Amino acid sequence: MNNRKLSDIANIEFDVIIVGAGINGAGIARDAAMRGLTILLLDKGDIGSGTSSWSTRLIHGGLRYLEHAEFGLVRESLREREILLKIAPHLVKPLPLLIPIYKSSRRGPVTIRAGMVSYDLLSFDKTLPHHRFLSRAEALREAPRLNPEGLLAAAVYYDTQVEFAERLVLENVLAAQDQGATIITYARVTELVAANGRLSGVEFLAGRTGERHTARGKIIINAAGPWVDQLLEQTSQNKPLIGGTKGSHIIVGPFSGAPSSAVYAEAEADRRPFFIIPWNGNYLIGTTDIRFEGDLDHVSADPEEIDYLLNETNRLFPQAKLTTNQIFYTYSGVRPLPYIGGKDESGITRRHFIREHPQLNNLLSIVGGKLTTYRSLAEQCVDLLFRKLGKRAPKCATGRVPLPGAIDFAAFADAFRKQIRFSPPVNNRLLRVYGTRAAEVADLCTRDPALAEPFNKAADTLAGEVVFSFEREMAGTLTDCLLRRTMIGLNVNLAEGDDEIAADIGKRFLGWNEQRAAKELSNYRSDIDRLMVR
Ligand SMILES: Cc1cc2nc3c(=O)[nH]c(=O)nc-3n(C[C@H](O)[C@H](O)[C@H](O)COP(=O)(O)OP(=O)(O)OC[C@H]3O[C@@H](n4cnc5c(N)ncnc54)[C@H](O)[C@@H]3O)c2cc1C
Repeated sequence: MNNRKLSDIANIEFDVIIVGAGINGAGIARDAAMRGLTILLLDKGDIGSGTSSWSTRLIHGGLRYLEHAEFGLVRESLREREILLKIAPHLVKPLPLLIPIYKSSRRGPVTIRAGMVSYDLLSFDKTLPHHRFLSRAEALREAPRLNPEGLLAAAVYYDTQVEFAERLVLENVLAAQDQGATIITYARVTELVAANGRLSGVEFLAGRTGERHTARGKIIINAAGPWVDQLLEQTSQNKPLIGGTKGSHIIVGPFSGAPSSAVYAEAEADRRPFFIIPWNGNYLIGTTDIRFEGDLDHVSADPEEIDYLLNETNRLFPQAKLTTNQIFYTYSGVRPLPYIGGKDESGITRRHFIREHPQLNNLLSIVGGKLTTYRSLAEQCVDLLFRKLGKRAPKCATGRVPLPGAIDFAAFADAFRKQIRFSPPVNNRLLRVYGTRAAEVADLCTRDPALAEPFNKAADTLAGEVVFSFEREMAGTLTDCLLRRTMIGLNVNLAEGDDEIAADIGKRFLGWNEQRAAKELSNYRSDIDRLMVR
């Protein structure tokens, strides 16, 4: 909760209530607030705690979508990739990827070359380098420990990586808040309140007490990701909109023979593409694509998915010899894809749809939508909102206004790296996580010398960041702070040990009593339990 009291909420009629603060809800909130609409954004958990935290973390054109002739989607994605490089350069960075081509590959050299040329043509206005086609010998020079057996050639091309997608979501929410949006996390919407064929608002249960509240809005947006159908349960929408598929990743340390750049390969078991990507000092390997109808609040990697990812990595890099013992942790998410009956999972379109509901004409549901295209989805959605409100839409500016941590980033980063108050690893990490808002973190740390001290084993995270996350970034729990603000929960040991010190910082600087600190710690431990290898 930011700028309003919960008890005041019922007295306001918002232009728009958005249910779900994943990347899509966050992007819509930012755009709509920037264009002057009054916004209430609600999430049953934390900002970005749904699917948006559990992706492959690529802002990509979707090379694979070319196979399905989705040229429009590829062009849109490539355009958005370029925009994100400009409005979020602290979070979105160029990433070279190597595609090895084997005798047994379903996609041979001719297909890959054609794909590469099309990708370059569709991104004619890009700032990233064009692709390079490599001979077998050149490929082995690029990745010397790549399995040479049956290797024919390779291609290198560029996409981008959003190392901390969680913070991309957060910065959209912070930008919305700056423009006057009201944000309430841990607010589960339990009812869409209908009267005379329209919705008048929503009912939600807030916070730890689960107190019931009502909020009124002219238009309601269901941006609940894979939970979209759950929210529609009490409406007349009886056909499912979402056909979710689960995707899992494993995180391992640098392994014997590991490539220095990302690899995008074809899995031998099922010919699906999969990635091995340098990420956060380690390697992110994924993903799977399995139809999912289980409990959306408890998604975790199955042993079969883990075996599949280990086997494919060991086949591609035979020196790796990875086993489950080397996995630091895993994560899984459910893609909120459109429901298409029995179609093969990988063939389901990755396009997004903004669904209207004829029986409730002030309700919109978001179906699909990737991290990559969230901004254009939001633009289309806000244009539609204005049409529905009967108002002229001001021009969308989200493609040119930088996100909060990106304002004058390049010049700021140069100067910040040179300052000697913190060590170089701390400076670099602050820039990677907060962009130019690193200056605000540094400022908060002047309150007390203890806040300017690193507190974690890697000695690169300041005690002040814990305080910053609660005071300035809407963290409500220790889990929010470690997994989606400071990001140290995604380090090798899932912040084991560091979590206790963070809870102590809570006691010292955030007014937590013993009981609160113990509860935060035990909740964090149970939240990360699903990331452990089973
Ligand atoms: C394995 C995997 C890999 C992927 N890789 C990529 C990639 O590399 N690049 C890319 O661009 N995309 C990728 N995606 C797709 C992308 O991550 C998702 O499409 C996107 O994050 C969906 O965002 P969302 O906001 O719609 O949903 P979510 O992030 O799930 O947000 C929905 C929010 O709604 C909230 N909510 C639900 N019900 C309620 C309720 N009743 N009341 C209040 N709040 C509620 C949830 O708590 C949640 O925070 C990947 C997805 C997966 C699963």
